Amino acid sequence: MAFPAALHDHSACIHAALDAAEAECRRRGARLTDIRRIVLELVWESHRPVGAYALLESLGRLGRSAAPPTVYRALDFLLAHGLIHRVASRNGFIGCPHPGHAHGGQILLCAQCGMAAELDDPALDREIALSAARLGFSVSHQTIEVEGLCPTCRAQAGDTA
Ligand SMILES: [Zn+2]
Ligand SMILES: [Zn+2]
Ligand SMILES: [Zn+2]
Repeated sequence: MAFPAALHDHSACIHAALDAAEAECRRRGARLTDIRRIVLELVWESHRPVGAYALLESLGRLGRSAAPPTVYRALDFLLAHGLIHRVASRNGFIGCPHPGHAHGGQILLCAQCGMAAELDDPALDREIALSAARLGFSVSHQTIEVEGLCPTCRAQAGDTA
């Protein structure tokens, strides 16, 4: 998957993500209730990590004001089913474009525009599990956050390297 361009048809991203989420919930026998779906849609409003507080504000804007525990429960559900990833360094969440296989998330974060994208390279997961195993450590979950510049921001900075 390419890094999201600054300008692209984002409604296609949202549709694909919601379709993938529906399919994944069906497969797992989980229920994507109204509020869970709305929170997922709001997480997908952009490719930038969004925090719980901003989600509460967006819900209010939609006239769906919800109590914080409601939003936290919806986020817990989405995390548990791999439909979103937590981005610790941004204290927020991004939608996962390809749920359905176990992965913790290898997240590229642009320091300039804040866009995020997933690497999703299974070889990296394996390498980390192997290296950890050499230390007698068993990995249960891993999320890697990588800071840098996205292609758009690099082009703007005249960095063609
Ligand atoms: Zn998009
Ligand atoms: Zn993912
Ligand atoms: Zn950028």
